[in-house]
Amino acid sequence: MKDILRWLYPDRCAFCGEAVAPEDNHLCARCRSGVLPIGRNRCFVCGKPVEEGRELCADCADHPHVFDEGRGIFVYDAKMRSSILRYKESGHRRNARAYAEAMAENAGTELARWRPDALIPVPVHASRRKSRGFNQAECIAEELSALTGIPCINWLVEKVRPTASQKTLSAAARRQNLKQSLRVRQRLRGGSFVVIDDVYTTGSTIDAMAACLKEAGAQRVYFLTVCIGKQDR
Ligand SMILES: [Zn+2]
Ligand SMILES: [Zn+2]
Repeated sequence: MKDILRWLYPDRCAFCGEAVAPEDNHLCARCRSGVLPIGRNRCFVCGKPVEEGRELCADCADHPHVFDEGRGIFVYDAKMRSSILRYKESGHRRNARAYAEAMAENAGTELARWRPDALIPVPVHASRRKSRGFNQAECIAEELSALTGIPCINWLVEKVRPTASQKTLSAAARRQNLKQSLRVRQRLRGGSFVVIDDVYTTGSTIDAMAACLKEAGAQRVYFLTVCIGKQDR
């Protein structure tokens, strides 16, 4: 019976989508050894890969961020892009679990140093949640919470209106636009928070989250994402 189920519903690698055996724990051997986390040479602030000896990426050197520090685990390359896309389309929990495992495994030092009070997923607007059926950041945050014991507070920040297209906006205008679409539902008395999202590109979403949380009283805001864009803006 188990074999028939396996044949009908093969388990798939969370990164590349190839069929895998259940005991492989959602990652094929090739991805397990081939999709490597960003190594030691990373930006002190956002975690983007940098040349050896450099402390900051060009983006962080150019302008300060609102968040305090953070990192993405993998480079957002073609393979991870299609992995995230498949996850967003399917909502497969195995992807969220594999991403959270990679976060817990590779960012354990940061989490120990940051000592966060809670994980806060980047919210999506109710209309998006309805059409997609889930919030991709929330599932990752819940899985990470289960692995680390750090509480996940998915209701703290709410997306009160959908974000209009941001392509033509400057970085500052984009941040303002995003910030106005978010609402923190409770005053905070200090506290340290880790914002969770699938991908970090320019940092404007994380900065908008950090700005709202800090205005509401948070003391420190960090972030963890599954992937981070390699290119500076
Ligand atoms: Zn794979
Ligand atoms: Zn940086």
